[in-house]
Amino acid sequence: MNQLGWILSLIREYLVPVGCALCGKTFLNGEEAWYGLCQGCRSSLTITGDQPRCSCCGRPLIAEIGRCLPCRNREAPYEEKVDQVVSLFPYSGNYRKLLVSYKFEQYRALGNFLTESLIAGLSRFTAPVLQNPVLVPVPPRPGKIRKTGWDQIDSLGKGLAKAYRKNHSPYLPVHQCLKRLPSPSQKALNQEDRRTNLLGRIRCVKPIPPEVILFDDVITTGSTLNACAAALKTGGARQVYGICLFYT
Ligand SMILES: [Zn+2]
Ligand SMILES: [Zn+2]
Repeated sequence: MNQLGWILSLIREYLVPVGCALCGKTFLNGEEAWYGLCQGCRSSLTITGDQPRCSCCGRPLIAEIGRCLPCRNREAPYEEKVDQVVSLFPYSGNYRKLLVSYKFEQYRALGNFLTESLIAGLSRFTAPVLQNPVLVPVPPRPGKIRKTGWDQIDSLGKGLAKAYRKNHSPYLPVHQCLKRLPSPSQKALNQEDRRTNLLGRIRCVKPIPPEVILFDDVITTGSTLNACAAALKTGGARQVYGICLFYT
């Protein structure tokens, strides 16, 4: 329970009322204001399944083994550098609205819900437990921050580390050791071009820790995560896991 955070959130809500990010309902208590979601909406949002996940994109597998159908269907399989990926929510409906709302100033409280979900997601890794993992946010495209004004991946990563530190040991520090060189936006490319677009475009700019958990908001083909993992392993990382909030 985070009573001080709840009280401050309630005061902020009293001064600048925003209401639930999904249904607009007025908050009834500090807990709702803290998460930016009413109780009803928050309890409707659940991390997908306990079943095994695709090793490439982290979505829950239905009848497949190892990799999901969309990942298998991609032409020319490439070497996977990420040891395991967990992604939490489908990028659609209310889940998609969460991320879109979070990017706006008035719904930053959703970061508390998202970081708590990420902490729950960290327990879904089934591969060997990392002893001293370090959280590495996927680096933004050059110029993106200038355009949007803030780096939500970095902000969520720091929130995750802070929330994690309260209840877990060892501590999960954030280490921004990757840099992305200029390249076209992944969003504008088809699957094949996404895979080659970032080859050699991710650079290690600081010493690389041996155990890394890469963090990104949305995973589509897994190409960005894989390019980051390739750079980390070339730079000396032994194990690289990936956690993403949403899968498309
Ligand atoms: Zn609501
Ligand atoms: Zn997959």
